Amino acid sequence: MPRSKKQVTTKKKYAEKAVKDGQATGGQPVKRSASSKTPQLLRGFKDVLPIDQKYWDLIESRAKNLAIGFGYGRIRLPILEETQLFSRSVGKDTDIVQKEMFSFVDAGGDNVSARPEATASIARAYNEHGMINWSQPVKLFYFGPMFRREKPQSGRQRQFYQLGFEALGSAEPVIDAQLIAIFNKFLTQLGLGELVTIQVNSIGCVTCRAEYKQELVNYFKPKRKLLCEDCKKRLIKNPLRILDCKEASCQSILGEAPQILDWLDDECKDHFMKVIEQLDQLEISYNLNPYLVRGLDYYTKTVFEIWPKEKLGSQTALGGGGRYDGLVELLGGRPTPSAGFSVGIERVINLLKEKNIEIEEKNVPQVFLAQIGSQAKTKAMKLLELLQDEGIVVAESFAKDSLKAQLELSNKLKAKYTLILGQKEVLDGTILIREMEGGVQEIIDYKKAVDDLKRKLSMT
Ligand code: AMP
Repeated sequence: MPRSKKQVTTKKKYAEKAVKDGQATGGQPVKRSASSKTPQLLRGFKDVLPIDQKYWDLIESRAKNLAIGFGYGRIRLPILEETQLFSRSVGKDTDIVQKEMFSFVDAGGDNVSARPEATASIARAYNEHGMINWSQPVKLFYFGPMFRREKPQSGRQRQFYQLGFEALGSAEPVIDAQLIAIFNKFLTQLGLGELVTIQVNSIGCVTCRAEYKQELVNYFKPKRKLLCEDCKKRLIKNPLRILDCKEASCQSILGEAPQILDWLDDECKDHFMKVIEQLDQLEISYNLNPYLVRGLDYYTKTVFEIWPKEKLGSQTALGGGGRYDGLVELLGGRPTPSAGFSVGIERVINLLKEKNIEIEEKNVPQVFLAQIGSQAKTKAMKLLELLQDEGIVVAESFAKDSLKAQLELSNKLKAKYTLILGQKEVLDGTILIREMEGGVQEIIDYKKAVDDLKRKLSMT
């Protein structure tokens, strides 16, 4: 329905007022930074420099191959969504929604948030595009940045990347097991398989979890004094989260706490046993972890995380996921049992670096094109394009004039061959080709340079 002019004006006024009052900036009055101040990264945000691209390329290409292999189609989701999408799905009492979202009222008066995670958007997209009419389960794969205004520390940023696999429209336990298998395979292919452990639990359905929550409250209430300040609040709003609190005093009283597995109803228990059986069949080792609950409200039944065996700082999980049978319906769709997982890219890269896992450099130039003199430079610029057209990876440094500096750069870049074009070669219609490892040089006809090089690189 088109909005009336009055409605839009009111919304605009409201947005302007919100900015003035600081509501749109999370309670902070708008700061006008001095124009002379050098702009810097926001806290918790990072640039990814060329030197690190090999990690990103590798991770994205491995994930893409797995997605193709297991039949997951790529979806690109928007970064901004309506704020209510997250408060309704992730949960209004969760840390993410209470404290961590980048939310603001835009100039049109809409409440929007930078996505803190992608599963809610996946469920929204499922409803919005009528995916219920597609062949079920609908399998989707995503890769992109997420935003949470957490306290930045090692392994915790305010913008971080996640990749995720989501299967919507099936309640079958085999789906849960296959998702865990994909996650495990992804890490194994990166050389991390032996360095991680898979943690699995079931948190039951809404009905059995309600009884369990009450039981937890009964258990923790007399011990309230020993709980940290956050957990005192969780006791009322979200008692399950006390189980995965990292505070030592809270952990010290977990020992005797009732365990969810004892409270699962027959259907949830049977579902979980089947997931476990499937994992056994696939020979995937896992740890049954009764304290694993995950921090988001939409989870039901199976939950899992993958942790490095050796703790990296205070941050443990490389990623996690589980079943969310009620989410699509909660957002206005038909009942659609679903499951998925997401992986934190920066944490995976940290582990790869920490364990010195070798990553092959993909962008090593095959040829370096060196030139001396202005005529040679012009000719080299043309040759560069001819080489590129043949699919040869070429590096150059046309801004440098010294041959020594160019050869040093060629060495540094590990180019296999260097082509050298000087004043003499321009006049003779020749070019020098140098094999970098042995230092052997030969003079060849300029016109035959591309074909000769292709032969040497075994491209013909
Ligand atoms: P979650 O669904 O919240 O458990 O997030 C899944 C994964 O995303 C985590 O296991 C981390 O690897 C990653 N992740 C979550 N929050 C952050 C953050 N603030 N900074 C870096 N990575 C994060």
